[in-house]
Amino acid sequence: MTEHITDTTVPGQETLNALRENLMEVERLTTQHQGADIPAEELSRRFSTLQEQLTTVEQKLETQALEREEFAALLEVSHAIGSTLDLTEVLNKVMDQIIHLTGAERSILMLVNPETEELELRAARNVDYETIDSSAFEISRSIVNQVAESGEPVVTTNAQSDPRFKARESVIGYKLRSILCVPLEARRRITGVIYADNRARSGPFSDRDRDLLAAFASQAAVAIENARLFEDLKTRNEENRRLNKELTEANRELSRLDQAKSDFIDIASHELRTPLTQVRGYNDILSEMFHKGAVTTQAGLKMTHGIRRASMRLEEVVDAMFDVSRLETETLSLSTSAIQLSSVISAAVQEWEEALEKRDLTLEVEGIADLPTIKGDGTRLVQAFSHLVQNAIKYTPDEGEIQITGCLSDSDAPPQEQAVGIVVADTGIGIAVDDLERIFKKFYRVGDVLLHSTGKAKFKGAGPGLGLAITRGIVKAHGGEIWAKSPGCDEDTCPGSEFHVVLPVEPPV
Ligand code: ADP
Repeated sequence: MTEHITDTTVPGQETLNALRENLMEVERLTTQHQGADIPAEELSRRFSTLQEQLTTVEQKLETQALEREEFAALLEVSHAIGSTLDLTEVLNKVMDQIIHLTGAERSILMLVNPETEELELRAARNVDYETIDSSAFEISRSIVNQVAESGEPVVTTNAQSDPRFKARESVIGYKLRSILCVPLEARRRITGVIYADNRARSGPFSDRDRDLLAAFASQAAVAIENARLFEDLKTRNEENRRLNKELTEANRELSRLDQAKSDFIDIASHELRTPLTQVRGYNDILSEMFHKGAVTTQAGLKMTHGIRRASMRLEEVVDAMFDVSRLETETLSLSTSAIQLSSVISAAVQEWEEALEKRDLTLEVEGIADLPTIKGDGTRLVQAFSHLVQNAIKYTPDEGEIQITGCLSDSDAPPQEQAVGIVVADTGIGIAVDDLERIFKKFYRVGDVLLHSTGKAKFKGAGPGLGLAITRGIVKAHGGEIWAKSPGCDEDTCPGSEFHVVLPVEPPV
C-alpha cells in the first residue's frame, strides 16, 4: 500500500512536503513569539533551508519541463515520420528533428546499402533545416564505422580532449568537437547511423541527448525501413507494369503474326492455285485439240504462251518465298560489280510500263543520272526498286503520279563515306502511321486478306506481303537503309507515300 502511494507521488513531492513543513514551523514561531523578539538565529536557519528547498523545486520543475518538451518532440516526430512513406521526406524530417532536439549544428544520416553493405550518405541537414551537399561537410568516418559495427552509441562533449577519440585523424583534421552518433536498428539489423556534431564549441551534447537520440533512432529506423520497403515495392510495381505492357504488346504482335501467317497460307495457296489452274486449263484444251486433230499453229502458240505466263507467275511466287527463307537464314548473297543506278531504275520502271499506261499513271525520274557509280548487285537492286515501283502503282488510284528522285549525300567526302539517296514517292492512298514499320515485316499486309488480288498492278491488289521484307533485305545486304513516310492512310484524300532508300557508294565488305 505504502509502495502504491510512493509510486503515485509526483517527482519533487518530498521536497514540497518538507518546504510546507518548514513554512508551518516559521508560522508557528511567529505566532508563538507574537510581539516578542523572535530568535534571529533560528529564523535565519529556517530561511536558508527554505531557500535551498525552493531551488531544488525549481530545478525539478525545469527538468520536468525539459522532459515534457522532449517527450512532445518525440511524439511529434513519430507522428510526422509515420504520416509519410516518401523516403526523402522521412529522412529530412528525421534530420530536422535531431537538430531541433539536440541543438546540433548539423546532422547526417547514413544507411547501409543492402547490396554493397556499405554505409551511404542519404540525408544531411544544417541548423537552418536546409539540405547540405556532401562536399560541405567532413565527418569522423571512424566513429561512424565504430557505431555501425558495434551498435553502441557514442557521445563526446569534446573530441579534441576525449582520450577515446582525440588521436583519430578525422577528429584532428576536421577539428571536430562534440559528436553524437547512434545506430539505426530495424529487425535486429543495423540499417544505418545518425551522426550529429558541433564543431564550433564543445559541450552541447549530454548523455541525456544520447539516450533521447537512441530512443528516437529506433522509431526512425522503423519508419525509414518502411519507407524503403514501400519504395522497393513501388519500383517492383512499376517494373511489373512495364513488363505487363511489353507482354501485352508482344502477345498482340504474336497474334498479328499468327494471323499474317494464316493469311499467307490462304494467299500463297491462292497465288499458286490460280496459275496452276491456268496451266491445267491450257493443257486440257491443247490435248483436246490434239485428239480432234484440230491443232493450228496459231492456237498452239496461244496455248503455250498462256502456259508460259502462268508458269512464270508460279516461279515468281516460289522465288519470293525462297528469297524470304534466304533472308531468314541470312544466306542472301550478292554478286557485286560497278552499277549505274540510272540503269537499275530504267530496268525497274521498264517492267511496269504497260501497267503505268493501262492505269493512266505518270512516272517521273529526277536526279538519278547524276549519281555516281556504286558497288552492288544489279539484279537484286532492280528487284528491290521494281517492287517499290509496283507498290506505288498498286496503291495509287488511276491518273496518279509517281516520282523517283535521287541525290548524293556529300559529294566532297571520300567515296567510302558517300551514300546515295533515292526516294520513290506516289500520290496514292498512303500508309497509317502505325503501319509504317510493320509493312516491312514478312507476311504483313495492311487490310483484309479478301482484298487480295493476283493482278500484279491492279489498284489495291495486295500480294503475299513479302515484297517489302525482301526489298529491305536486299537494301540491308548492301549496307543501306530503307524506311517509309506517310501522313496516314486515306483513300479519299490520297495523302501519298514515300519510300526512302539510302545506299552506300561502297558497301562495307
Ligand atoms: P504486298 O505483296 O502485299 O504488296 P508488300 O510487302 O509489298 O506486300 O507491302 C506490304 C503492305 O504495305 C501492303 O499490303 C500495303 O498495304 C502497304 N504498302 C506498300 N507500299 C505501299 C504504297 N506505296 N502505298 C500504300 N501502301 C503501301
